[in-house]
Amino acid sequence: MCQPMGAVQALLGIEGAMPLIHGSQGCSTYMRFQLCRHFREPINVSSTSLSEGTVVYGGEKNLIKALETIKIQYNPALIGVTSSCLTETIGDDVEGIIKKFRESYLKNQGEEFPPIVSISTPSYSGSHVEGYDKTIVSLLRNLTLPPKSEEKHNVINIIPGNLSPADVEEVKEIIKLMELNSIILTDTSESLNAPLTGSVEFLPSRGTTLDEIRRAANSKITLTLSKHADSGGKLLNKRFGVPHTILSLPVGLKNTDRFIETLSSLKYVETIPSILERDRGRLLDGMVDSQTYTHGRKVAIYGDPDLVSGLVSFVVEMGMEPSIIATGTKSNQFQEDISKITSKTSHDPVVVNGGDLYDLHQQVKKTGADLLMGNSYGGRIAVAENIPLFRVGFPIFDRVGAQRICILGYKGGLSLLDQLTNTIIQHYYDETGYELLN
Ligand code: SF4
Repeated sequence: MCQPMGAVQALLGIEGAMPLIHGSQGCSTYMRFQLCRHFREPINVSSTSLSEGTVVYGGEKNLIKALETIKIQYNPALIGVTSSCLTETIGDDVEGIIKKFRESYLKNQGEEFPPIVSISTPSYSGSHVEGYDKTIVSLLRNLTLPPKSEEKHNVINIIPGNLSPADVEEVKEIIKLMELNSIILTDTSESLNAPLTGSVEFLPSRGTTLDEIRRAANSKITLTLSKHADSGGKLLNKRFGVPHTILSLPVGLKNTDRFIETLSSLKYVETIPSILERDRGRLLDGMVDSQTYTHGRKVAIYGDPDLVSGLVSFVVEMGMEPSIIATGTKSNQFQEDISKITSKTSHDPVVVNGGDLYDLHQQVKKTGADLLMGNSYGGRIAVAENIPLFRVGFPIFDRVGAQRICILGYKGGLSLLDQLTNTIIQHYYDETGYELLN
């Protein structure tokens, strides 16, 4: 997935924001198509609609025209301009064009143009993981105001990473149970999992507000839940001295324990709500119930690096064997995380760091796996090798409900555990669930 894809997802978590892709129409069509079929929501992504002529003469005119049109048509609270392969290659000075445009708009119209945040997302390097990270940094760099000391109170910044709306909701729920307040950077829990109301909304009507982003430097800490989305926390720390802690994605028992312990340490009284203790107990109970089916099963896991690391940690806790671990985003951090998890086990998995589905398929043929865990693109491998695919991550376009998949926290872990185990039972056991077929 290319960088603007991650940028658009981050922008769709901001109330009243409109993403604008400075590139050809095909780029924004691709984003809309991919996001729409995953989240099953109408996705609005605007485009500067560059053509052959503008590639030769530069995209300034189109960018200005697009900004003016968006203001007239939608009057957004924020416009997030992301570059694309094309505009990065021709070298458009997007920041400079925006600065000049804002000055002339103020002079001619006598009022400020809505905030514009420019994000450099050259898609020939990196992936949507970097695009998401860069967007959070850009938002904080451009909008966050210096802290007011009297305002430092029980608020924490959370950078969740590129998660499903249901996972973001679960994170918010845990924070609420811990009696803390949060600023989620950014909150897609409502905008990408919206109820049917009968009215058509062209901009996210819920999500992180601009005011919250402006106040992020007043928070007592920033917790980053995805190691590949840590630049925003680093920026707040460097610029405003906001403490920053990077955690593993809270998938499974150990990672969730660590998340809750960290939240607990931020409170005056370090107690864990009984509801969370109960949910932890239920997850443990579920693990005991499922181990007959899951223990020793070889699993190939692929997807975004933080998601994959979290899933590897969880399947190891379940007694499964991660035989192939793959990500398309090449990362030393990923390699380090996987080594750390597997060094405490007897497993020696094949790690594909920065590979593609072809590499994954070759490894499945060579090493073998009883189960695939990842996005819908693994469907063909699953069919070819006659193994089940447990769908998790992005994109999931051949099933409904991707926006409601929750795997974080104890509750999400239990739902993941049940569905994973049932996938194994369905494929490997007869109708009674007792007799082993394969
Ligand atoms: S890879 Fe480049 S050309 Fe393709 S959609 Fe992404 S930005 Fe556009």
